[in-house]
Amino acid sequence: MTTPNRMILLGAPGAGKGTVAKGLVDHLKVTHLSTGDMLRAAVAAGTEVGLHAKTFMDRGALVPDDVMVALIAERVSQDDCKSEDGTVRFLLDGFPRTLPQADALDDRGLGPDAVIHLDVANEVVVGRLTGRRSCPGCGAPYHVEFKQPKVAGICDICDTALVHRADDREEPIRKRLATYSAQTSPLVERYSAELITIDGDNAPSAVLNAVLERVSAGSAG
Ligand code: AMP
Repeated sequence: MTTPNRMILLGAPGAGKGTVAKGLVDHLKVTHLSTGDMLRAAVAAGTEVGLHAKTFMDRGALVPDDVMVALIAERVSQDDCKSEDGTVRFLLDGFPRTLPQADALDDRGLGPDAVIHLDVANEVVVGRLTGRRSCPGCGAPYHVEFKQPKVAGICDICDTALVHRADDREEPIRKRLATYSAQTSPLVERYSAELITIDGDNAPSAVLNAVLERVSAGSAG
Protein backbone atom coordinates (compact mmCIF):
# COMPACT_ATOMS: atom_id res chain seq x y z
CA MET A 1 0.00 0.00 0.00
CA THR A 2 1.46 3.37 -0.96
CA THR A 3 0.19 6.43 0.83
CA PRO A 4 0.85 10.07 0.03
CA ASN A 5 3.65 11.86 1.90
CA ARG A 6 2.20 15.36 1.86
CA MET A 7 -1.51 15.63 2.47
CA ILE A 8 -3.83 18.61 2.86
CA LEU A 9 -7.25 18.56 4.48
CA LEU A 10 -9.55 21.04 2.83
CA GLY A 11 -13.05 21.87 4.03
CA ALA A 12 -15.16 24.59 5.61
CA PRO A 13 -14.93 25.17 9.36
CA GLY A 14 -16.89 22.35 10.98
CA ALA A 15 -16.60 20.01 7.99
CA GLY A 16 -14.90 17.45 10.25
CA LYS A 17 -11.25 18.06 9.40
CA GLY A 18 -10.08 17.53 12.99
CA THR A 19 -11.79 14.14 13.31
CA VAL A 20 -10.49 12.90 9.97
CA ALA A 21 -7.02 14.18 10.85
CA LYS A 22 -6.98 12.15 14.04
CA GLY A 23 -7.93 9.00 12.14
CA LEU A 24 -5.30 9.59 9.47
CA VAL A 25 -2.62 10.12 12.11
CA ASP A 26 -3.58 6.85 13.83
CA HIS A 27 -3.63 4.87 10.59
CA LEU A 28 -0.84 6.45 8.57
CA LYS A 29 1.54 7.63 11.32
CA VAL A 30 1.89 11.08 9.86
CA THR A 31 2.46 14.36 11.75
CA HIS A 32 -0.71 16.44 11.99
CA LEU A 33 -0.21 20.20 11.62
CA SER A 34 -3.34 22.16 12.50
CA THR A 35 -2.74 25.87 12.06
CA GLY A 36 -5.88 26.60 14.14
CA ASP A 37 -4.42 24.57 17.04
CA MET A 38 -1.00 26.19 16.59
CA LEU A 39 -2.56 29.66 16.70
CA ARG A 40 -4.71 28.85 19.73
CA ALA A 41 -1.60 27.58 21.54
CA ALA A 42 0.16 30.86 20.66
CA VAL A 43 -2.85 32.82 21.98
CA ALA A 44 -2.87 30.81 25.22
CA ALA A 45 0.88 31.32 25.64
CA GLY A 46 0.40 35.07 25.07
CA THR A 47 3.11 35.26 22.39
CA GLU A 48 3.36 38.22 20.03
CA VAL A 49 2.11 36.10 17.12
CA GLY A 50 -0.76 34.83 19.27
CA LEU A 51 -1.90 38.27 20.40
CA HIS A 52 -1.78 39.56 16.82
CA ALA A 53 -3.62 36.48 15.46
CA LYS A 54 -6.37 36.67 18.09
CA THR A 55 -7.66 39.98 16.73
CA PHE A 56 -8.42 38.21 13.43
CA MET A 57 -9.58 34.87 14.84
CA ASP A 58 -12.21 36.29 17.20
CA ARG A 59 -14.02 37.98 14.35
CA GLY A 60 -13.84 35.02 11.96
CA ALA A 61 -11.26 36.63 9.68
CA LEU A 62 -8.09 35.03 8.33
CA VAL A 63 -4.73 35.77 9.90
CA PRO A 64 -2.48 37.48 7.30
CA ASP A 65 -0.68 35.19 4.85
CA ASP A 66 2.86 36.26 5.82
CA VAL A 67 2.24 35.31 9.46
CA MET A 68 0.80 31.92 8.47
CA VAL A 69 3.49 31.10 5.94
CA ALA A 70 6.27 31.88 8.46
CA LEU A 71 4.53 29.71 11.07
CA ILE A 72 4.10 26.70 8.81
CA ALA A 73 7.52 27.01 7.11
CA GLU A 74 9.21 26.83 10.50
CA ARG A 75 7.04 23.92 11.62
CA VAL A 76 7.49 21.68 8.55
CA SER A 77 11.27 22.01 8.87
CA GLN A 78 11.19 20.11 12.17
CA ASP A 79 12.30 16.46 12.42
CA ASP A 80 8.85 15.01 13.05
CA CYS A 81 7.89 16.07 9.52
CA LYS A 82 10.60 13.89 7.94
CA SER A 83 10.51 10.18 7.28
CA GLU A 84 13.63 8.02 7.80
CA ASP A 85 14.89 8.65 4.28
CA GLY A 86 14.46 12.43 4.75
CA THR A 87 11.28 12.76 2.70
CA VAL A 88 9.09 15.58 3.98
CA ARG A 89 5.84 14.11 5.24
CA PHE A 90 2.89 15.88 6.88
CA LEU A 91 -0.84 16.27 7.12
CA LEU A 92 -1.85 19.92 6.91
CA ASP A 93 -5.17 20.84 8.48
CA GLY A 94 -6.34 24.43 8.00
CA PHE A 95 -3.44 25.39 5.72
CA PRO A 96 -3.35 26.56 2.97
CA ARG A 97 -6.47 28.70 3.22
CA THR A 98 -5.68 31.14 0.41
CA LEU A 99 -4.08 30.93 -3.03
CA PRO A 100 -0.93 32.81 -1.85
CA GLN A 101 -0.53 30.25 0.95
CA ALA A 102 -0.76 27.44 -1.64
CA ASP A 103 1.86 29.27 -3.74
CA ALA A 104 4.14 29.45 -0.69
CA LEU A 105 4.05 25.65 -0.38
CA ASP A 106 4.83 25.20 -4.07
CA ASP A 107 7.68 27.73 -3.85
CA ARG A 108 9.30 25.53 -1.19
CA GLY A 109 8.79 22.34 -3.23
CA LEU A 110 6.20 21.19 -0.71
CA GLY A 111 3.07 20.96 -2.86
CA PRO A 112 0.69 18.18 -1.78
CA ASP A 113 0.44 14.61 -3.15
CA ALA A 114 -3.19 14.39 -2.02
CA VAL A 115 -5.82 16.98 -1.08
CA ILE A 116 -8.74 15.60 0.87
CA HIS A 117 -11.77 17.80 0.38
CA LEU A 118 -14.57 17.31 2.94
CA ASP A 119 -17.75 18.56 1.36
CA VAL A 120 -20.53 19.66 3.79
CA ALA A 121 -23.49 22.07 3.34
CA ASN A 122 -23.33 25.38 5.25
CA GLU A 123 -26.43 24.75 7.39
CA VAL A 124 -25.01 21.42 8.62
CA VAL A 125 -21.83 23.24 9.61
CA VAL A 126 -23.71 25.94 11.55
CA GLY A 127 -25.53 23.26 13.60
CA ARG A 128 -22.32 21.40 14.30
CA LEU A 129 -20.25 24.43 15.31
CA THR A 130 -22.69 26.32 17.51
CA GLY A 131 -22.99 23.14 19.62
CA ARG A 132 -19.28 22.39 19.62
CA ARG A 133 -17.32 22.52 22.86
CA SER A 134 -13.55 22.11 22.87
CA CYS A 135 -10.94 21.09 25.39
CA PRO A 136 -8.26 23.80 25.64
CA GLY A 137 -5.99 21.23 27.32
CA CYS A 138 -5.76 18.40 24.78
CA GLY A 139 -7.88 19.66 21.88
CA ALA A 140 -10.53 16.90 22.15
CA PRO A 141 -13.82 17.96 20.53
CA TYR A 142 -17.28 17.59 22.15
CA HIS A 143 -20.83 18.54 21.15
CA VAL A 144 -23.78 19.56 23.36
CA GLU A 145 -26.00 17.10 21.49
CA PHE A 146 -23.90 14.56 19.58
CA LYS A 147 -20.87 14.00 21.82
CA GLN A 148 -21.34 14.88 25.46
CA PRO A 149 -18.52 14.37 27.98
CA LYS A 150 -19.11 11.89 30.83
CA VAL A 151 -19.08 14.78 33.36
CA ALA A 152 -20.84 17.92 32.09
CA GLY A 153 -18.38 20.58 30.99
CA ILE A 154 -15.24 18.52 31.72
CA CYS A 155 -12.90 16.79 29.27
CA ASP A 156 -13.01 12.96 29.54
CA ILE A 157 -9.34 12.71 28.64
CA CYS A 158 -7.54 15.39 30.67
CA ASP A 159 -10.16 16.79 33.13
CA THR A 160 -9.83 20.33 31.77
CA ALA A 161 -12.96 22.55 31.72
CA LEU A 162 -14.44 22.64 28.19
CA VAL A 163 -14.88 25.96 26.39
CA HIS A 164 -17.24 27.36 23.78
CA ARG A 165 -14.75 29.01 21.45
CA ALA A 166 -15.41 32.67 20.68
CA ASP A 167 -15.36 31.81 16.96
CA ASP A 168 -17.88 28.94 17.39
CA ARG A 169 -20.80 31.36 17.90
CA GLU A 170 -23.29 31.96 15.12
CA GLU A 171 -22.15 35.37 13.89
CA PRO A 172 -18.45 34.52 13.55
CA ILE A 173 -19.41 31.14 12.06
CA ARG A 174 -21.38 32.83 9.27
CA LYS A 175 -18.40 35.11 8.74
CA ARG A 176 -15.97 32.15 8.65
CA LEU A 177 -18.16 30.40 6.09
CA ALA A 178 -18.23 33.51 3.92
CA THR A 179 -14.44 33.78 4.30
CA TYR A 180 -14.08 30.12 3.33
CA SER A 181 -16.23 30.55 0.28
CA ALA A 182 -14.41 33.70 -0.89
CA GLN A 183 -10.80 32.86 -0.04
CA THR A 184 -10.39 29.11 0.46
CA SER A 185 -12.85 27.40 -1.89
CA PRO A 186 -10.79 28.48 -4.97
CA LEU A 187 -8.25 25.91 -3.75
CA VAL A 188 -10.65 23.13 -4.80
CA GLU A 189 -10.05 24.07 -8.42
CA ARG A 190 -6.39 24.85 -7.87
CA TYR A 191 -5.82 21.31 -6.58
CA SER A 192 -8.07 19.52 -9.07
CA ALA A 193 -5.29 17.05 -10.00
CA GLU A 194 -4.70 15.97 -6.38
CA LEU A 195 -8.29 16.28 -5.15
CA ILE A 196 -10.14 13.53 -3.31
CA THR A 197 -13.67 14.76 -2.58
CA ILE A 198 -15.57 13.06 0.26
CA ASP A 199 -19.17 13.69 1.33
CA GLY A 200 -18.64 14.96 4.89
CA ASP A 201 -22.34 14.83 5.89
CA ASN A 202 -22.15 11.31 7.31
CA ALA A 203 -21.21 9.68 10.61
CA PRO A 204 -17.56 10.45 11.52
CA SER A 205 -16.53 6.78 11.23
CA ALA A 206 -18.07 6.51 7.74
CA VAL A 207 -16.32 9.69 6.61
CA LEU A 208 -12.99 8.44 7.95
CA ASN A 209 -13.38 5.04 6.27
CA ALA A 210 -14.16 6.71 2.95
CA VAL A 211 -11.08 8.92 3.31
CA LEU A 212 -8.79 6.01 4.21
CA GLU A 213 -10.06 3.93 1.32
CA ARG A 214 -9.51 6.68 -1.22
CA VAL A 215 -6.15 7.80 0.19
CA SER A 216 -4.80 4.24 0.21
CA ALA A 217 -6.04 3.68 -3.34
CA GLY A 218 -4.28 6.90 -4.33
CA SER A 219 -7.31 7.91 -6.36
CA ALA A 220 -7.99 11.53 -7.09
CA GLY A 221 -11.42 12.55 -8.36
P1 AMP B 1 -9.51 26.55 12.56
O1 AMP B 1 -9.44 25.94 13.90
O2 AMP B 1 -8.71 25.82 11.52
O3 AMP B 1 -10.95 26.79 12.11
O4 AMP B 1 -8.82 27.99 12.66
C1 AMP B 1 -9.32 28.97 13.55
C2 AMP B 1 -8.94 30.36 13.06
O5 AMP B 1 -7.51 30.47 12.96
C3 AMP B 1 -9.45 30.71 11.68
O6 AMP B 1 -10.79 31.17 11.68
C4 AMP B 1 -8.46 31.81 11.28
O7 AMP B 1 -8.75 33.03 11.93
C5 AMP B 1 -7.16 31.30 11.85
N1 AMP B 1 -6.41 30.44 10.87
C6 AMP B 1 -6.14 29.11 10.96
N2 AMP B 1 -5.45 28.69 9.90
C7 AMP B 1 -5.28 29.77 9.10
C8 AMP B 1 -4.65 29.99 7.83
N3 AMP B 1 -4.06 28.99 7.15
N4 AMP B 1 -4.69 31.25 7.32
C9 AMP B 1 -5.26 32.27 7.98
N5 AMP B 1 -5.88 32.14 9.16
C10 AMP B 1 -5.90 30.90 9.73
